[in-house]
Amino acid sequence: MTEPEDPSRDRLKLHFAQRVIHQARQILEVWQRLHQREWSAADMVELTEANLRLLRFAERFEQTEHAQLAGSISLCLDAVDANRGRLSSNLITELNRLMQRLSRTGLRHGDRLEHTSLPPLRKPVYVMLQDHERGDRLAKQLEFFGLSALALEDVASFYSTMAERHPAAIVMDVDFSGPGEGLKLAAKTQQELDHKLPLLFFSNQETDTPTRLAAVRAGGQEFLTGTLEASSLLEKIEVLTRVAQYDPYKVLIIDDSRAQAVHTERVLNSAGIVTRTLLDPIQAMAELAEFQPDLIILDMYMPGCTGTELAKVIRHNDRYVSVPIIYLSAEDDLDKQLDAMSEGGDDFLTKPIKPRHLITTVRNRAARARNLKSRMVRDSLTGLYNHTHILQLLEDCSFRARRESKPLSFAMLDIDHFKRVNDTHGHPMGDRVIKSLALFLKQRLRKTDYIGRYGGEEFAVVMPDTELSSAYKVLDEIRQRFAEIHYPAQPVDLSCTFSAGVVELSDDADSLMLATLADDALYRAKDAGRNQVHAGRLKVNATFLEELADAVVLQ
Ligand code: GH3
Ligand code: MG
Ligand code: MG
Repeated sequence: MTEPEDPSRDRLKLHFAQRVIHQARQILEVWQRLHQREWSAADMVELTEANLRLLRFAERFEQTEHAQLAGSISLCLDAVDANRGRLSSNLITELNRLMQRLSRTGLRHGDRLEHTSLPPLRKPVYVMLQDHERGDRLAKQLEFFGLSALALEDVASFYSTMAERHPAAIVMDVDFSGPGEGLKLAAKTQQELDHKLPLLFFSNQETDTPTRLAAVRAGGQEFLTGTLEASSLLEKIEVLTRVAQYDPYKVLIIDDSRAQAVHTERVLNSAGIVTRTLLDPIQAMAELAEFQPDLIILDMYMPGCTGTELAKVIRHNDRYVSVPIIYLSAEDDLDKQLDAMSEGGDDFLTKPIKPRHLITTVRNRAARARNLKSRMVRDSLTGLYNHTHILQLLEDCSFRARRESKPLSFAMLDIDHFKRVNDTHGHPMGDRVIKSLALFLKQRLRKTDYIGRYGGEEFAVVMPDTELSSAYKVLDEIRQRFAEIHYPAQPVDLSCTFSAGVVELSDDADSLMLATLADDALYRAKDAGRNQVHAGRLKVNATFLEELADAVVLQ
């Protein structure tokens, strides 16, 4: 017989885990600040102290993963110190890697802490609707999407719950507990808080401008009316509560003067931007392919070629047509500057330049370029990667998995009888289901997985570092949970299922073959009655190859 778990011990464990996670969050907040402004000595001190506290807590409460990360961060910070408090590209990259790992520990769905039967640590969203039944239903739907949500029915329970724990966000009916009362309650609550909570207002009816204005003044970031649908609400909450996964900008500096380049690097590094310098412009194309910068800073006059000539060469390559090029030069003849800009440059900065001016220009340009690029590789309905790009990612990830001898799984999903959804409920409802499955996958898969919209109602998932058995388990759980979602419809609510095929990379299959095999597995799942996941394993033998050759000929 096993001993019963001691509930007070569990509570204590949870409490300790929360302390550690709270400390981790503080570190991430300081780190995020680096990407909004320049780094100061005070920020360094704050980060160092927060990290020491994390190390202490984590050791005391035996959170080994956190303790290890804090130890590594500490080493990096020592290196910054030894570098006279200056960040370098290597240190930014290393710190960022550690911060990303830190942001994934113990905070997200499906990680270790949850498996130790502790309650989820994610802060809940408070759902406060005048219509309590509707509030309950909405909270339940949000939970299906992997969010923790709590429906509250009156002001007293709001206060008592708030006293225990602040929520991740509040969804507040303007008329909660009486006409206009919800608005007032939210305004009062926000006023008393040091850190304002993400707040979304809801009104059953379209409202007038004064009400909306009052909502804005009460700190409401969104105003929703009409049907409150879980998936679109979740999307909004995600945006408001996201701990941004920051990826430092990468800037390639091409300048024949080492002194100038070093100066530019220092300025950009101090703002958390990763740099690389190239003194010889002739090497530019090789460097671009290897470093994949978000932006290029180009000197105007260099031996070998001029900046404008080089810009033209860079623009000749399709891959780099949208990488911003900024000239940084002492040239102050406006005509020459304008000429240079019409030759493929995006901006012209004259030396000497104020650090803030340089940093702001680089950040803005790089941000816009990233945004543009993400729109080129993403599907507009779902925001997932498009067909071409997910296959590209599969190829990249397969290559990496092989090199590092790590497993990789790939899955294809297809919604069952989707044509019926369109036929019965109309195309917009179909779109809604597609969007909600996309969101569902984003919520429930790991942040390191890549999700693509492969076609109409077909999805593809690349799962690095994942063996077939665990990929199967995750997908099958998602399948079961997805079937539980109800979409409000007449005369009865609608629910959908999907089928999936999942395969693992092996020595004999290239990425293209992997996609074919996943498709085969998917069709076996459809054939076997739908609403199921089938795993395919590649066993290469002569018969298989013959069959494959036959199949190709037949097509
Ligand atoms: P099965 O279970 O075999 O997959 O049946 P199915 O009806 O889902 O499959 P089928 O491939 O016959 O039909 C898919 C339908 O999906 C046909 C197409 O009109 C619809 N569709 C494709 N893209 C979109 C889209 O973006 N929005 C909507 N609403 N429907 C789409
Ligand atoms: Mg289908
Ligand atoms: Mg289909």
